[in-house]
Amino acid sequence: MQFKISKKSKKSNARIGFLETDHGVIETPCLVPVATQAVVKTLTSEEVEKTKSQILISNTFWLHLRPEEKIIAKSGGIHKFMNWKKSLMTDSGGFQVFSLGFGADFGMGKIIKNSSQEIIKKDSQAKKIKITNDGAFFKSPIDGKDLFLGPKESIKIQEKIGADIIFAFDECTSPIADYEYTKKSLEKTHKWAKICLKIKKSEQALYGIVQGGKFKDLRIESAKFIGKMDFDGFGIGGEFGDDKKIMQKMLNWVVAELPEKKPRHLLGIGYLEDMEKIIKSGVDTFDCTVPTHYARRGIAFTSEGRLDLNKAEFLKKRESLDVDCMCPVCQNYKKNYICHLLRTKEITGLRLLTFHNLYYFNNFVEKIRQDIKNGKI
Ligand SMILES: [Zn+2]
Repeated sequence: MQFKISKKSKKSNARIGFLETDHGVIETPCLVPVATQAVVKTLTSEEVEKTKSQILISNTFWLHLRPEEKIIAKSGGIHKFMNWKKSLMTDSGGFQVFSLGFGADFGMGKIIKNSSQEIIKKDSQAKKIKITNDGAFFKSPIDGKDLFLGPKESIKIQEKIGADIIFAFDECTSPIADYEYTKKSLEKTHKWAKICLKIKKSEQALYGIVQGGKFKDLRIESAKFIGKMDFDGFGIGGEFGDDKKIMQKMLNWVVAELPEKKPRHLLGIGYLEDMEKIIKSGVDTFDCTVPTHYARRGIAFTSEGRLDLNKAEFLKKRESLDVDCMCPVCQNYKKNYICHLLRTKEITGLRLLTFHNLYYFNNFVEKIRQDIKNGKI
């Protein structure tokens, strides 16, 4: 994998780059749509390509459970398995360990609300998993089987899956983890980073992951430690509660310490309204479930803002989903038809919205790239 920076903004840390893998060149900054189970839910790989998506991220944890990496390896790797011809990443499975344990215990997702924070302050450790110095013991959410995932296992699984870019195994701490817990967790993440680098035999690009929660000294320590290692790029992980200012500060602390010439990936966050800020702080790629997840709930992101197409009022609207959008959905289908499909629970409604939302997000990031090129941001 090669990464070349073609332009740096004079107004911010934003940059334009080209990330080249065996499956093509990705122009950055770039959104990475999520293909958890080796599919962008509701779409074929050919359709995803038409949404201007340049690279996808699949999920090591779920693919390990089903269909198991050996099935994918026997198909000639994940690209052939899912017929995706462009670049692909797999995460390390670390975040899913968090979701299974802490997230499942407390009904918590990537962003937590203040109210739940108050309830669970006293008990911030996960119950459904056991994290040791070697990795995480947990029960399969599918059949309850006892499983173990550590740095060696994660890399071996990711090598078999065969994405272009893989991630080191880390512990993603909860947004309310205290300083002591986060510090100890960081020691593990750093130890595991060394093991991942040592164990990898494939030609795949390997990204190290910076953790450290919301604590400035730990974030800086982690970025310095991981940044000095021989990784091909860097993932920035973590949970930030619902305070977006913390995330912004954290990005500034971390990016300042990471090597300039290597790509940076923000793991798992990226609402439309955050994208410009994330890019301005110097992030090159970021994955985000928002466009696809919201589509399956009937929400379209448009130049008029978010629209809930489930609402009966849209049955009276005969205009395009978004009159400013050039995607085939907006060129061919009207709001009233999509609303009708959603209200009658026709699968095609979810497909049309997923296509449009992905196209809209990719177009949004493309415009930011243009603004950087034109010196606007
Ligand atoms: Zn559209």
